[in-house]
Amino acid sequence: MSQPARFSKPKMLPKKDLPQLRVISPGDDIQPQSGIEMTPELEEEIKRRSAELESATPQQILKWAVERFAPHFTMATAFGPEGMTIIHMLSEIAPETPIFNLDTGYQFKETLELREQVKVRYGIEVEYKRPDLTVEQYEELHGGPLYKTNPSQCCGDRKLKVLVDAVKGKHAWASAIRRDQSPDRAKAPIVGWDKKFQLVKISPLANSTKAEIWNMILDHKIPYNPLHDSGYTSVGCWPCTRAVGAGEDERAGRWSGTAKTECGLHSMDD
Ligand code: SF4
Repeated sequence: MSQPARFSKPKMLPKKDLPQLRVISPGDDIQPQSGIEMTPELEEEIKRRSAELESATPQQILKWAVERFAPHFTMATAFGPEGMTIIHMLSEIAPETPIFNLDTGYQFKETLELREQVKVRYGIEVEYKRPDLTVEQYEELHGGPLYKTNPSQCCGDRKLKVLVDAVKGKHAWASAIRRDQSPDRAKAPIVGWDKKFQLVKISPLANSTKAEIWNMILDHKIPYNPLHDSGYTSVGCWPCTRAVGAGEDERAGRWSGTAKTECGLHSMDD
């Protein structure tokens, strides 16, 4: 996959014109400003609801989440197959739910085109949330692309920090993770407390399988990223994503060749 033309010629800006960055890396002590605080009552409710919803359908879980937390309920999506499935469900359950995409500036054009397809198909405008610095400014500040030398900081700056801003005042967010995606994700509860972002985190697809997701996509003709037809089983930013070969894990193409497996948004131990 060739590099998108819009990223091929970084504009060199004087250092003095570059805004100051607050660097956040996975594991750092970030300062979330969500609109909810953990209390013993909330902790008990989360545990009880998570156990009750273990046998519920994804739609039932989403309905509960909307009834319990809207208008302080939101969703972040990278337009993966699972996220597209949740968008489809939300279009029927609560299309007014605010949905956003962390636009790092390094997304594939195929991913960005999906935002337009969501608008046409569902009338839902997924909001782009972007870092303070453009890719050109960011690479100039760091003397080149940080994804090559320090991908954790790059994810921290261009995803985690942006998410912290995006969920200000929110109480809960939906994640599209499945437990069978990785050993780390296997620990995901249906309803849990996201310590890093100080939010209730709801994972309606935690018990779903890859086959179930794709059956739903095909049955309902849900738009999906065409890169999935070319071996890209999991699609993130183009510099950190490759197609996988037969028999490889579905997330093997993310940060391939490094020990990094998550951008830090969904790390279960943080
Ligand atoms: Fe940077 Fe890669 Fe993380 Fe995207 S996935 S924010 S390019 S390190």
